[in-house]
Amino acid sequence: MSKYDPYENMLAVLENAAKKAGLEHDEYSFLEYPERELTVHIPVTCDDGHVKIFEGYRVQHSSRRGPCKGGIRFHENTDKQEVKALAAWMSLKCAVANIPYGGGKGGICVDPSKLSEGELERLTRGYARAIAPIIGPEKDIPAPDVNTNGKIMNWMMEEYSVVCGSAEPIYAVVTGKPVDKGGSLGRTDATGRGIMLVACEMMKKHGMKPESTTIAVQGMGNVGSISARLLYEKGCKIVAVSNSKGGIYNPMGLNIPAVIKHLEQNGKRFDGYTENGLVNISNEELLCVDADILVPAALENSITADNAKNVKAKIILEGANGPTTAEADAVLEANGVEVVPDILANSGGVIVSYFEWVQNMKKERWSEQTVNEKLAQTIIPAFDAVYAAAEEYGVSLRVGAYITAIKRIIGK
Ligand code: GLU
Repeated sequence: MSKYDPYENMLAVLENAAKKAGLEHDEYSFLEYPERELTVHIPVTCDDGHVKIFEGYRVQHSSRRGPCKGGIRFHENTDKQEVKALAAWMSLKCAVANIPYGGGKGGICVDPSKLSEGELERLTRGYARAIAPIIGPEKDIPAPDVNTNGKIMNWMMEEYSVVCGSAEPIYAVVTGKPVDKGGSLGRTDATGRGIMLVACEMMKKHGMKPESTTIAVQGMGNVGSISARLLYEKGCKIVAVSNSKGGIYNPMGLNIPAVIKHLEQNGKRFDGYTENGLVNISNEELLCVDADILVPAALENSITADNAKNVKAKIILEGANGPTTAEADAVLEANGVEVVPDILANSGGVIVSYFEWVQNMKKERWSEQTVNEKLAQTIIPAFDAVYAAAEEYGVSLRVGAYITAIKRIIGK
């Protein structure tokens, strides 16, 4: 196994947490394996008439606490091992959030930017048909993840409803849908909002004021850009942002709404964006800029044993899933950097997915204010539980989060 294998990473923390909590191996060994793994091959007729076969996956890690829950990613580097790790993190994440779900994850090995709209739709519908036998509102509920969105979720929901022969759309089979297709208000912003709420709790714990707190955000997709905007609105100084195409740093604080607008209008490129005091940096350099808080919100394994020693931030909030390798974690801990783990920091998305599912099941519609209030009422107690576990067992927040999750899953 390579040292960056995300499933090995998950297992290493799981074993460590279980040991610290004094659990017997027989009590938690089932968590070392996914309950079910499905590989599918999806033939898609391309616009030029030839047929291309894509490989996809759906992994159900655990259904002990309820139906499996978790996103679908479309990425050219996605493979079964990554999806397995992501599924396990969903079981842990839902348990930390204390919502009645297990964990699952799906993915297709594809670069969606190379597909036309029609090809993307045929691929998505083919994937939905292929995994239809194992998903359902009370079995396994997909959602968006990297490179997927509300439009894709709506195609999945429609296709699933057709496969089931239902006269009505079966909204509750998928979350993260557009608001006019059974989606929930507040879902698009939910992961970023959760990160902002967790950041505020961390600032309180450390007596930091938002106005004098500097933040760097890696990744300007849904999670990175919305957390940057909401933290900016709270008064924090966002000093650096980046994506795979480049990055910018301004020690005076960036004008985040202007940056987001520029990225939207310029194919996600920073080129041509100007502000007094601004310097261009790379995606990699962003991790080491002078900032109090670092939010890695891109992909797995961006903080490694090689660059962890250069991280200047004292707090890391993991917006992405698995952005820190196990080796990097050890370096950060030795350097006194507190890492708020993915399974807590980015749980706002799945928490509001749960609210969407409840609204679909009960045929209700909640206001955005209600959704945002319920999100805060769910994620702040999750933060408190993790913090308390870390203190009780004398461990990092990551291990505290795993202990909280494992104990809830095994019912201890
Ligand atoms: N993909 C998101 C995550 O990793 C959301 C999952 C969901 O809403 O089910 O947490």
